Amino acid sequence: MIKNNHRMELESFDLKVLIVDDEKANRKILKELLQEQAKIIFAKNGEQAIELAHKHTPDLMLLDVVMPDKSGFEVIETIKNDPVTMATSVIFITGLANCHDEERGFALGGCDYIYKPFNTNIVTARISTHLELIQQRKMLDTIAHIDALTGISNRRKLDKVLKSELAANKRDKKQLLVAMLDVDYFKPFNDNYGHGAGDIALKKVSVLLREVLKRPRDFVARYGGEEFTLILPDCDEHGAKQVLQNIFTALSDKAIQHEFSDVSDYLTMSVGAVLLNGDSLLSAKDVLVKADRLLYRAKNNGRNQTVLEII
Ligand code: GH3
Ligand code: MG
Ligand code: MG
Repeated sequence: MIKNNHRMELESFDLKVLIVDDEKANRKILKELLQEQAKIIFAKNGEQAIELAHKHTPDLMLLDVVMPDKSGFEVIETIKNDPVTMATSVIFITGLANCHDEERGFALGGCDYIYKPFNTNIVTARISTHLELIQQRKMLDTIAHIDALTGISNRRKLDKVLKSELAANKRDKKQLLVAMLDVDYFKPFNDNYGHGAGDIALKKVSVLLREVLKRPRDFVARYGGEEFTLILPDCDEHGAKQVLQNIFTALSDKAIQHEFSDVSDYLTMSVGAVLLNGDSLLSAKDVLVKADRLLYRAKNNGRNQTVLEII
């Protein structure tokens, strides 16, 4: 057995591998080689492979080419055209041992092409290399979307979520709340209590925001500095006002002392919120600009308040 030094670290990330082969003996061998590194799912034919890939979004597919219903080449075309599965890596493991088919496999988006019958040690080594790369990519992707100070999503993630929720809102014809929140008089907070205390306050605010948001699709990000953004899908006016009120109540309950604020003895926030109907034509950028303008109005009106507009 070829030793792979990184194999142990793979266990920390839940990797899923879909093994697609019409022959049971092949599925069994591959499973035995990989079961310590990943969760294994099986498909016996092309149709089943497409269905299970869409359902389970595996990280990697080991894909036979010659199968009774659909060929592996047809399967990969479907996989790479489905937004849910397009990121799945595909390794062909096939008896079509010639350069022409191998070239085709890579052209269709495969990341490796292994000839059958295979040497188990070599196959294990090659697949492990791919799993390691996949794991590193997932880790980088996670890090790239998290704010280092607070551990909540960052602006990069916000941009993605906002785009997809706006699209979903247009499809579903529901309402979507997007709100910008900005801590009041945070500069004097930092100047007087120190940057460390400021950081702690920002962490407390992000914990509080996460606690107030209850539904699985509710989303909060640190937009930057002392600004946060909320995205609440499928939210009517009553629900929107309720959540924003809950945030103000929770912040007031935390009672983070701020003697240098002109509006309260405690830390407060101002909010600009846009409630969008499904027929709104605003782009993600427009929505953020709009929310920012409303936030500016909340600041001008005296801070520690929300300005909400329904569009
Ligand atoms: P306003 O009520 O109008 O929002 O005033 P403000 O003082 O909150 O706004 P301003 O934009 O003047 O200052 C924002 C401050 O936020 C300045 C900066 O020191 C602080 N800040 C931004 N990012 C961080 C951070 O990561 N940590 C800490 N501690 N402070 C930060
Ligand atoms: Mg600000
Ligand atoms: Mg501020």
